[in-house]
Amino acid sequence: MTERHRGSGAGRFAPSPSGDLHIGNIRSGLLSYVRARQTGRRFLWRIEDLDRVKTGAADSQLQVFGELGVVPDEAPLVQSERTAEYAAALAKLEADGLVYECYCSRKDIAQAPSAPHAPPGAYPGTCRRLGEEERESARLRLEANDRRPALRLRADNRVHSIDDALLGRVEAVVDDLVLRRGDGVFAYNLTVVVDDAATGIDEVLRGDDLASSAPRQAYLARLLGLPEPGWVHVPLVLNEGGQRLAKRDGAVTYQQLRGLGWTNADLFAWMQQSLGFAGDGGPWRSVDDMVSGIDFARTSTTPTVFIPPAGS
Ligand code: GLU
Repeated sequence: MTERHRGSGAGRFAPSPSGDLHIGNIRSGLLSYVRARQTGRRFLWRIEDLDRVKTGAADSQLQVFGELGVVPDEAPLVQSERTAEYAAALAKLEADGLVYECYCSRKDIAQAPSAPHAPPGAYPGTCRRLGEEERESARLRLEANDRRPALRLRADNRVHSIDDALLGRVEAVVDDLVLRRGDGVFAYNLTVVVDDAATGIDEVLRGDDLASSAPRQAYLARLLGLPEPGWVHVPLVLNEGGQRLAKRDGAVTYQQLRGLGWTNADLFAWMQQSLGFAGDGGPWRSVDDMVSGIDFARTSTTPTVFIPPAGS
């Protein structure tokens, strides 16, 4: 262990390799690195490639971070290589009587009356209490359409909360979330919890669009007997219209910005300004300047807007 890693814990960045990262994703990834460095944690990278994969995207994302001076402390974890671990977690929940088959389509769920006290969009519990005969006929009905049942967690539909270093207490109802989809793919909430625990992630820093998922993940960790990490959800980068920044908003990826003449120093200067540290010391030119310049106690919890530079 080097001087850098004072403890055994770790932080991580876990982008989906679905294409080039935009400046908002890059900002969250850099912040997770900064936080790890400031707190003496290892900085790990996870390739969440169970869904929406674009060939070459994972390597290109890592390369961009390399150019920005960020290299993970260990080889990235690749989710598609970890099916056995997810299956083992699912088997534990099954053994505890916490898993049931669900035959609903999206349309069935949208049309079902919602359960009392359940938040909008929560699973209404349609398949929770079916008898074996009803299950058998539902299975056959799906099979006839070449589909398989999804597997859901038998949750308690109660409010759970987590404590976030920036947002304070975050509460959400934990509904019967999907553990394995009908197409056999293990669901995001399960894989994140299994992987974070397996790699010693004891603090998760990511965009605050995922803050409402954290109580479900903490609950799942508890059911699996895994430790709950600490949480730091950082504000997203928005477009001019106030929506989450997206590729269609213009020149927003590292490659596009470089193509328009941005240097790494320009990118770090934008990070400094967007995080509210513009007047502090000199301009940031590198990730090391971010590590020394950021005080998480003073980062703003309001989102920032990115206006893409016009092309030439
Ligand atoms: N792969 C997820 C994403 O790109 C992030 C998962 C997480 O940080 O928990 O949105």
